[in-house]
Amino acid sequence: MVWTKDMNSGAQQIPAVELIGATKRYGALRAADSVSLRVEAGEFFTILGSSGSGKTTTLRLIGGFELPDEGRVLINGRDVSKDPAHRRNVHTVFQDYALFPHLTVYENIAFACHLKGVRGGALRERISNALDLVQLGGYEKRKPSELSGGQQQRVALARAIVDRPAVLLLDEPLSALDAKIRGEVREELKLLQRNTGLTFVYVTHDQEEALTMSDRVAVMRGGRVLQIGSPIEIYERPADLFVASFIGKANFLSGTLRAVEADRGTVETAVGRVEGCLAAAASVGAAVSIMIRPENLRLRREADSAPRAVIRQASYLGHGTEYLLHSGELVFRCLELRRRGSTPLREGVEIGYEWNWDEALIFAADGGGP
Ligand code: ADP
Ligand code: MG
Repeated sequence: MVWTKDMNSGAQQIPAVELIGATKRYGALRAADSVSLRVEAGEFFTILGSSGSGKTTTLRLIGGFELPDEGRVLINGRDVSKDPAHRRNVHTVFQDYALFPHLTVYENIAFACHLKGVRGGALRERISNALDLVQLGGYEKRKPSELSGGQQQRVALARAIVDRPAVLLLDEPLSALDAKIRGEVREELKLLQRNTGLTFVYVTHDQEEALTMSDRVAVMRGGRVLQIGSPIEIYERPADLFVASFIGKANFLSGTLRAVEADRGTVETAVGRVEGCLAAAASVGAAVSIMIRPENLRLRREADSAPRAVIRQASYLGHGTEYLLHSGELVFRCLELRRRGSTPLREGVEIGYEWNWDEALIFAADGGGP
């Protein structure tokens, strides 16, 4: 049997997971602070935040390993706020694979199924389907010790999807793998989610993982959700200065807002008056910070252009060159993609730089820091 996305389509209207003002306290600490989010059925949804931001706590609220002190948890539209983990149709994949070392791959997976009373040919077919989905068909008789770290993690995944949970929770499942394997498993994981149509709620502190794999991302800090959006939205339209600094690389330039015309602002800075796009309403005279992505900073080789900077470091990346520019007291990062006929600039060269006003975002300066 091929397991396609369509088989889940009946549940499309009702969110697979919904948290409504869910709060979990440890003493005075609000590890999850009034978290509200909606995960659509079949979505790859990622919770992104640095260590201690409340990601695992939020995942444990969904899984039923913690019950909320306030607020509600719904799975497929059903209120499960007071239900323990085993009464929710949800599985979790952890960072350490938690396979039984004395059991074979087949037995490790069968163990999960036996609990639900599936036997015989039906069980064999389910397990072989699950192993095919993680590209481990034919590995049934191996022991965990005969598999690489990446393969063990895929067995853990097969075990988690074999009885088709409504939601699969994944808590930093790749963080124990080395960088090269992590990249491969990342692609496989995304493919697995697409091929099964299962709802994934994925937790990571790695913004690159979040951007590359997810349909939508929730950015957390201090137990709170700061922004929920597609990777494009959170990268191009971060909700505040913290999200802007947490997602991707960026230059920040502080100054005072001097003029506003619709969403276009003029800011007095250490390198003179510059323009940007107001990310939120701000009044003239306010302390602000302008964010410019390295790829939006353009170098101008003409002698008369301003403002000017000196190239202090040029790092050749193959597909482009990354420069560190010193302009007065300020340091800017600039990414110039390789174009036909362009030669990278050398360190020590003086150059002008600029940006399009609508590609620089102006935030209130008190929006939080990195
Ligand atoms: P993350 O997964 O984003 O690193 P966690 O959800 O694990 O963050 O933790 C959020 C906050 O709650 C942290 O400050 C952590 O120390 C605290 N915390 C988590 N679990 C417990 C617990 N069982 N008892 C007390 N404090 C906890
Ligand atoms: Mg965690």
